[in-house]
Amino acid sequence: MRRIGVDAAAVSEALRGARSVVVCGHVNPDGDAVGSVLGATLALQSLGVEVVPTLADAKAAPVLYAFLPGFPLLQAAEGLEPPEVFLALDVPSLPRLGAAEGLARASSRIVVIDHHPDNGSFGAVNWADPTAAATGQTLWRLLPSLGVKPTPEIARCCYVALMTDTGRFSYGNTDADVFRDAAEMVSAGADPFHTYTATYESQSAAAMRLLGLVLSRVTIANGGLVAYSWVTDGDLDETHGIMAETENLVDVVRTVGGVDAVFLVKCAEGSCRVSLRSKTGTDIGEIARRFGGGGHAAAAGFTAEGSLDDVVGSLLPLLPGGDGE
Ligand code: AMP
Ligand code: MN
Ligand code: MN
Repeated sequence: MRRIGVDAAAVSEALRGARSVVVCGHVNPDGDAVGSVLGATLALQSLGVEVVPTLADAKAAPVLYAFLPGFPLLQAAEGLEPPEVFLALDVPSLPRLGAAEGLARASSRIVVIDHHPDNGSFGAVNWADPTAAATGQTLWRLLPSLGVKPTPEIARCCYVALMTDTGRFSYGNTDADVFRDAAEMVSAGADPFHTYTATYESQSAAAMRLLGLVLSRVTIANGGLVAYSWVTDGDLDETHGIMAETENLVDVVRTVGGVDAVFLVKCAEGSCRVSLRSKTGTDIGEIARRFGGGGHAAAAGFTAEGSLDDVVGSLLPLLPGGDGE
C-alpha cells in the first residue's frame, strides 16, 4: 500500500497536542470535503481541542450538506486568527485552499489528511493514502490512534464522505474495504437511508429545472466515446438555482452507456469549471493537470478562463476518440 508521509501516530500526536486547530477542505467542497471537515471537527472537539471548521470559499457554502452535524459551526476563513495547527482535509495542494491559503501559511503547523494521488505533501505532517476511496475513510481509520470514540455524528459525517466519493458505492474505487468501513460506520450510528435521502433525494425545484437543462443538452462526441453537458450562470438566473446545486449533476451525464469519459462544464463570470469522469480506465486526472487542474484517475477537474465553446473545443481532442489524443 503506497502511502505518502508519516505514520498515523505522528498525525494523531500533532492533532491531540494542539492548542488550537482550524480545519478546512478544498474550494467547491464536495461531500468528502464537507464530511471530513465536520467529522474531524467533532472528533477533535470530543478530545477537548479548540477547533474551528472553515470554508475555503465563504461565497460558496455547501448547502447541500447542511443536514450534517456540525454544519452551523462552519466559518469563513477570512478574519480568523492563525491557529497553532491548520488541518487540511481532501486538499492536494495549497492553492486548493482558496481564501484559506493565507491562514494555512500563517499557522504554526500544517497537517494534511488526504487521498489524492497528486498530493504534494505540503504540510509539516502528511497522511495521504491514495488507496483510500475518500478522505473521510482515511479519517475514520485514524480515529483509534487519535483516541476518539466514534459517535453517531462522526460516523454520519464519514459515511457521507465515503458514499459521495464512491458515487453511492458504485465507482471503481468501491472495494471490500469500503464496504467494511461503511459497515463499521453504520454500526456506529450512520443511517444509510437518512444520509442517502438527505444527499440525493432532497433537491429543490430549481435544482430539478437545472437537471432538466443538463439532461436536454447531453451531447455525444468523439465517435460515441465522450458525453458532455453544461450549465451557465444564465441558467441559474432562469431556474433560480445556485451553483452548489450542480455539484452532483455530472453523475447524470455518466449514466450514458458506451462512453469512456464524460464531463460537465459550469460557466460563470468568464470562467468555466469542468468536472471530468472516466468510466473505463482513461486517466482523466492527467488530462485535468494539463489544464492546471488535478484530481484522481477516474474523477478530476479544472478551471479555465474563456467561453464554453473554447473549453469544449480544447478538451474534446484530448479525450478518447479525439483527434489530439
Ligand atoms: P469535481 O469534478 O469538482 O467533483 O472534482 C473531482 C476531483 O477533481 C476532486 O478530487 C477534486 O478535488 C479534483 N479537482 C477538481 N477541480 C480541481 C482543480 N481545479 N485542481 C485540482 N483538483 C481539482
Ligand atoms: Mn473532494
Ligand atoms: Mn475526496
